[in-house]
Amino acid sequence: MVKAVDGLSFDIEKGRTLGIVGESGSGKSVTNLTILGLHHPDHTEIEGEILLDGQDLLTVSERELERLRGNKMAMIFQDSLASLSPYHTIGQQIGETYRKHTGASKREARARAVEMLTKVGIPQPDLRVDDYPHQFSGGMRQRAMIAMALVCDPELLIADEPTTALDVTVQAQIVDLLKDLQQETGTSIVFITHDLGVIADIADDVLVMYGGRCVERGTKKEVLRAPQHPYTLGLLSSMPTLDGPVDVPLSPIPGTPPSLLNPPSGCRFHPRCTFTEQVGGGRCASEQPPLELTAGRGSACHLTAEQRAEFFADFAGTR
Ligand code: SF4
Ligand code: MG
Repeated sequence: MVKAVDGLSFDIEKGRTLGIVGESGSGKSVTNLTILGLHHPDHTEIEGEILLDGQDLLTVSERELERLRGNKMAMIFQDSLASLSPYHTIGQQIGETYRKHTGASKREARARAVEMLTKVGIPQPDLRVDDYPHQFSGGMRQRAMIAMALVCDPELLIADEPTTALDVTVQAQIVDLLKDLQQETGTSIVFITHDLGVIADIADDVLVMYGGRCVERGTKKEVLRAPQHPYTLGLLSSMPTLDGPVDVPLSPIPGTPPSLLNPPSGCRFHPRCTFTEQVGGGRCASEQPPLELTAGRGSACHLTAEQRAEFFADFAGTR
């Protein structure tokens, strides 16, 4: 079955991780669903839905969202200092989320906080539970954020660039921790990053965003080993191997990411794409290629499968 999807729509299977590759957003707010960059004012072109148990997270009321948040779904962000209150202890903050959704007593909440800190690998959790965020290292704060996010066993964890601010070693530890916790809890994860190395490590499925649109999706193996979209190809070409260096910049491709306020016509990638001649007829600049998916696999590009096979052959040989 071939299905053309306009905009962005995806569902995540239980216990799986969807990696979303795209430009880092800025000015993320913890208080609303800017989570996927979908609600940034400069991303308003995006239409779509994010279904959690049949409920579209992009249209639920703020109140309903408040109920879901922390309970059914939780989020972690890059900037743990901005997300944690400096005036409350780590234990109070983990405990508060727990109490809000379970009605547990303060004492029970504290015990739960210690349990969660243990789970995320904080040493001496029964002591550190009374620390304030500034007493934790960056890596420990990110662990505490994860503890807070998972305290109510959410079905969905949205992690928006959660490791970007950390050094590579700590980054890898956090990714390992998330994978372990996912094994244990079956939580589904949406992991947003510009870092393909992290995607290679953690994702089951991958969605590649360009200029506010989904340009390619598939399983990790499909997308990383047999990319269909020139943008994905460009991203991957800057990675020596899938297991190689982790720190891949977002724009190894000549040119700059498009303005979303005034996006390029047709295919938004066309000003930077080296295959427009092959498509010919000025089509790339005039006609937006639809995202064509077959069983969750596909891309949005005017190149034919035969053309891709020919032009992308060099790449395939290197993996
Ligand atoms: Fe490049 Fe054209 Fe494909 Fe866009 S549609 S990625 S410009 S070949
Ligand atoms: Mg974003």
